[in-house]
Amino acid sequence: MRRTLLRNITILPMTKVEDALYHGDLLVENGRILAIGETGTLESGNAEVFPGAGKVALPGFVNTHTHLAMVLLRSYADDMDLQHWLNDKIWPREAKLKPSDVYLASLLGTLELISSGTTTFADMYFYMDQVAQAVAESGLRACLCKGLIPSGADTYDACLAEGLNFALSYQGAAEGRIRTMLGPHAPYTCPPDFLRLIKTTAQRENLGLHIHLSETQKEVEDCLHDYGQTPPQLLQSLGLFDLPLLAAHCVWARPEDYPILARARGVAHCPTSNLKIAAGIAPVSDMLAAGVNVALGTDGACSNNRLEMLQEIKLAAILAKTASKNPRALPAFQALQMATLGGARALGLEAEIGSLEVGKRADISIFDFSAFHLTPCFDSYSHMAYAALPSDAHSVMVDGRWLYRERKFVRLDAEAIRMEANRAAWDLVKR
Ligand SMILES: [Zn+2]
Repeated sequence: MRRTLLRNITILPMTKVEDALYHGDLLVENGRILAIGETGTLESGNAEVFPGAGKVALPGFVNTHTHLAMVLLRSYADDMDLQHWLNDKIWPREAKLKPSDVYLASLLGTLELISSGTTTFADMYFYMDQVAQAVAESGLRACLCKGLIPSGADTYDACLAEGLNFALSYQGAAEGRIRTMLGPHAPYTCPPDFLRLIKTTAQRENLGLHIHLSETQKEVEDCLHDYGQTPPQLLQSLGLFDLPLLAAHCVWARPEDYPILARARGVAHCPTSNLKIAAGIAPVSDMLAAGVNVALGTDGACSNNRLEMLQEIKLAAILAKTASKNPRALPAFQALQMATLGGARALGLEAEIGSLEVGKRADISIFDFSAFHLTPCFDSYSHMAYAALPSDAHSVMVDGRWLYRERKFVRLDAEAIRMEANRAAWDLVKR
């Protein structure tokens, strides 16, 4: 029996603001949270004791939209518009990626996720078996799909078959930490007939969908021109919202789209990526008011250029205030909840993760609050949303197993991975 007791720690369960416990104990047994109570009230027995004074425990962050292996092309092409960036720089280079590049890049990405307090991520890319291998070795939890972009109507079946084969082979892999979906890339790369085929298949195989949606103004204008509908309306007419759906971006969602998006599992709001390509500011407050589950994501490392969630939490909160001209919009707790429980809900995992509650999986991030920039602390939620840095992440566990302990990786040889991935990146750009 594996038991760990977090002792005398600040616990932010992320259920309700008032559920915070400032001198709390949390007992983990066999991967799940067994008990939470005031310090000194839980029997430690033979548990490993983690001394928590000066530290804050909260549910590990859920990054609901990324392309992990893109870390290999970080800083390769910046300061461009989305279409030219994809067509002229990223897609030609990605065409030269080898499976081993994706494996090394994914491992490098997991180091960044773990050491900044993220425990679950949703990924869309290719060579996904390599990504899954990295997830298995890292100990992280992930929701994976192959990005589906057909090159013509005659390739629909082959394109889908590859994504479906991955989804069926890896569902529940890595001791249940890997879940899979189908990943039609976007309405502007996947024609309606292909989306229809994906919908029927996903329904038959009981799979959810992950798609880029209403990311740029041009995408929405083109969609209106071609189909007389906004991208969410188009997907709704094709039946995609009848399935569990995760929609990334939705920067240009219109009021008529909100009730449609409220039917999705969630929207992955990626503020840094949206700002960097000048796509705009997503109408987060309006979507939340309309009942949309807005979660957070980093997008890939070429468009962010980091994979850490604290920046997304802070940006989401402060952008929502400026966009709505209301400093009370999206308070610290709510922004943090988008990165935890909201993220879990967006991936259909809220029964298992996303909050610190008895019975849930022990996916826990612990932040060290001893830094200058976190002193004094009148409000732990405020510090997590506005002041904490990724380097304040101190220890991280998934399923009750330490992946990162006192700022050291437990399972991965970080320096070896960093050097090998760096070599692979330089090799790729010369290929
Ligand atoms: Zn993306």
